[in-house]
Amino acid sequence: MERDNLLKLMHRKRHLKIGLMGGTFNPIHYGHLVTAEEALKQFMLDKVIFIPSGKPPHKTTGSLASTEDRYLMTVIATASNRDFMVSRVEIDRKGRSYTIDTLRYLKDIFKERATLYFITGADAILEILTWKDPKEITNLCKFIAATRPGYDISRIEYLKKKLFKDADDNDQHIFLMEIPALAISSTDIRSRIKTGRPINYLLPESVCNYLLKHELYK
Ligand code: NAP
Repeated sequence: MERDNLLKLMHRKRHLKIGLMGGTFNPIHYGHLVTAEEALKQFMLDKVIFIPSGKPPHKTTGSLASTEDRYLMTVIATASNRDFMVSRVEIDRKGRSYTIDTLRYLKDIFKERATLYFITGADAILEILTWKDPKEITNLCKFIAATRPGYDISRIEYLKKKLFKDADDNDQHIFLMEIPALAISSTDIRSRIKTGRPINYLLPESVCNYLLKHELYK
């Protein structure tokens, strides 16, 4: 079903530019939504596919909501935007959620007919050398690193030098995008819920209602 929907995207155009919004989304908030919209417009993407992590490789389960709750909150938050989709690929895959497996799955669907842009937080990208198969990852996609204002970008510049030491400037595919709305963070939202502080206006009202109804992060 999901594979069919992705294949359908290729009926419309010869070559697609697809954003892959990778994250734990624990919970999804306006910072994520603004990031996706900004990437869509700045990089002229055809679609942004949100990919909630199933079992994040670098995380213990402490305050992590269930995969199904995080998936549903992502669906609710993105439902009204026709340029956004949500994928279950990491939710349904058994074992740890490695980005390389997701990229191989998508590459198998799109073949050479799409350029993939993996969009995520700059801090996550800084860890890429510790991810599974980092070299193959950089061959399969470009990166859009979302930063909060005041972020020290020299760390990303250093990573680029390490990762692409044999490539010329044009092939160093990590783009930086400063997103003021990323002052909002999932960690802060969880801590607010735990201590009874307000979360209104930090995330869509529908998501807010969902997590209150299901008593998440209490
Ligand atoms: P994280 O360490 O929880 O997040 C790092 C920072 O980035 C946080 O400030 C986070 O803010 C922000 N962030 C996360 N996703 C974002 C997004 N899509 N747009 C804007 N900001 C974002 O990172 P994570 O969520 O676990 O992982 C990010 C992605 O990297 C996921 O797709 C994950 O599967 C992938 N990853 C892969 C491997 C691997 O393959 N071995 C290892 C680690 C991560 P919030 O907390 O507010 O979201």
